[in-house]
Amino acid sequence: MITDTHAHVFYDAFDSDRDAMLARAHAAGVSRVIVVGTDAASSRAAFALAARHPGLYPTAGIHPHDCEERFASDRDTIAELARDPRCVAIGETGLDFFRSLSSHDAQIESLRFHLELARAHSKPVIVHCRDAHPRMAEVLGEARGVIGVMHCWSMGPDELAPYLELGYCISFSGVVTYPKNAANRAAARAVPLERLLVETDCPYLAPQSRRGKRNEPAYVTETLDVVARERGLSSAELARITSDNAARLFRLA
Ligand SMILES: [Zn+2]
Repeated sequence: MITDTHAHVFYDAFDSDRDAMLARAHAAGVSRVIVVGTDAASSRAAFALAARHPGLYPTAGIHPHDCEERFASDRDTIAELARDPRCVAIGETGLDFFRSLSSHDAQIESLRFHLELARAHSKPVIVHCRDAHPRMAEVLGEARGVIGVMHCWSMGPDELAPYLELGYCISFSGVVTYPKNAANRAAARAVPLERLLVETDCPYLAPQSRRGKRNEPAYVTETLDVVARERGLSSAELARITSDNAARLFRLA
């Protein structure tokens, strides 16, 4: 069993073949997919999709790209969905100081709101971090006790320490398969096995063999293969370990 811990399978990029895409995931052994909301509408879409397909688990959150525009209008819906027992995590939230599509203040306010929800409902938080270390570690550190996942880890091993110390899992995406990304593979070797997760972040970030094309949950196997090789494990062993980690973090039955 393989778990894709971060997929946006509600996006219209999948409108033409969503059922076939989910069938391909199952055929590839990807029997669990965390469907990550990025605003009120997409979080509702994640819940609706998960209600129709076993093995899909929805989350509720506002992406840092969108929070300046949507935080005020969407926060009540996110808070309502966060209470729902079907909701397995809060997010995605986070800080993106690379694109800075929302002001840094707006991103931090939204991140703190998500951390409060995570604490209130004892659920993990899904964190997007781009060019925001070490500020990210400071803000997460204000909510000590809340745990979650640093999704799509894009840094090397040197930045891991504060997130591991806070109790976060680290999730690797197709980025780890890119030939020039030796630092990211070094990070994949450095994360304690019990904190390791894999994801697609689809439709983005397809692994090397399909780089630049639309990504989908079935392709998480390529990321899993690369991380397994780095760890000196079989892909089957790492699939079991990362799925067990995901089941523990997201409290999947
Ligand atoms: Zn995402």
